[in-house]
Formats: sequence, structure tokens, C-alpha cells
Amino acid sequence: MRKITIAIDGLASSGKSTLAKHLAEELQYKYIDSGAFYRAVTVYLNENDIDWNNNTELEKALHKIHIDFDYDLILCKENLLLNGKHIESAIREIHISDLVSYVSAVPEVRKFVVSRLQPYGYEKGIVMDGRDIGTIVFPYAELKIYMTADEKVRTGRRYKEMKQKGVEVSEHQVTDNLSGRDLIDSTRRMSPLKRADDAVVIDNTNMTERKQFKYVLALAQSIITGV
Ligand code: C5P
Repeated sequence: MRKITIAIDGLASSGKSTLAKHLAEELQYKYIDSGAFYRAVTVYLNENDIDWNNNTELEKALHKIHIDFDYDLILCKENLLLNGKHIESAIREIHISDLVSYVSAVPEVRKFVVSRLQPYGYEKGIVMDGRDIGTIVFPYAELKIYMTADEKVRTGRRYKEMKQKGVEVSEHQVTDNLSGRDLIDSTRRMSPLKRADDAVVIDNTNMTERKQFKYVLALAQSIITGV
């Protein structure tokens, strides 16, 4: 059967990764969370005290970063590796969330991450979510989705998710983080978050995950089968 590329972009906590994972599972495609790459770079630069505004220092550091995945056979999920070490929980910490949009606005960082993401699309059969997937990473994706939702709803969802994971955070911190990131992400000079002209917009403020999933799956299937 024909395989396609599905690009999902949108605001922070708009449900991109939940939708992307479900689609990948249903279609038996690979799922890649591009935000995790920017988070991994942020962890490395932060841990190694690298000034990301100093180009020479930054370039040297980027050469030392290797991002990969391994597969957890028990949990049946991919784990992100930074230079061979598992960093799933480190990349989700609030201080990394507070830094990541500054790091991801640096052109050298973007070039580095985009060059690592694009090879995943060579064979199609991929769902990737992020901020510039439909515009920069996979501009020729057969299906592009742009997701949004009311800020209060997104904040509530993210707060609940972090609490469930046992992360120490206040609702206020989550609100500040989300609105701060959306502002930086959508106003940065290089590849800002914006809807691709050919993206389907989904505002899921009042939509269930199930309804949203069924709607996008039907779009994907009609492209795959050509009917
Ligand atoms: O998707 P997630 O919220 O984990 O992404 C973290 C941050 O990484 C975003 O706020 C944004 O600054 C950056 N990002 C990006 N481009 C992408 C994916 C993420 O700039 N494609």
C-alpha cells in the first residue's frame, strides 16, 4: 500500500503528540517527536554550560551531540538517547521547557536538528509533530495538520499531564511556560511556527481526542487509497 508523510504542527500542548502517536499506531508508521530533539540539544547545552549565542562554542558543541532512539521491548516504546544515555525524563523538566524556545530560535541549532529529522522521511510511512514540519522539514508531506486550542484548555491539559507524571510544578508556571513558548516560537526569525498554506486546521478546544483522531485518520486514508 502507498505510504505517505504526515506533518503535524501547532501550538504548545494542543494535542499534537497524542494524535500523532495514535495515527502512527493505527497506520503502522514511525512516529517522531521533533520537539524532543530540540529539548535534547537544550539539555546538552545547559549541562555543559555552553553559550548558545556564541557561534564558535555552539558549533563545537553541536558536533558532539548524537541523538538516537532505542526500543523498550517491555513497554513497547521508543526511548530517546542523547550520546547513548536515556534522557526522556530530563527533557521534560520545567527548567528545560523554559529554555528550549530560546535554544530552538538559534539558526545553527535549527539547521542541526532539521538535518537530523529529514532522513526519517526518506522512506515515508512517518508521522512527525513539531512547529515547522509542514513548512520546512517536510514541505512536500501529503497530509499536513495545524492544531490549536484555547490557551486555558491547553494549560489545563498540560498541568494535569505533568502532575500525573509526578513533576513538581504550579499551574502558574505552566501557563507562563506555554504562553512564553508560543510567543517565541511564532515570532522567531528562522522558521517560525505558522500554518502551512495547505494544512488542515483543527481547533480541538471542544473536540474529543477520539473524534479528532477519526477525522484525521479518514483524511489520511483517503490520501493513501486515493479515494
Ligand atoms: O513539542 P515540544 O513542546 O516538546 O517542543 C519544545 C520546543 O521545541 C518548542 O516550544 C519549540 O521551541 C521547539 N520546537 C521547534 N520546532 C519543532 C519542534 C519543537 O522549534 N519542529
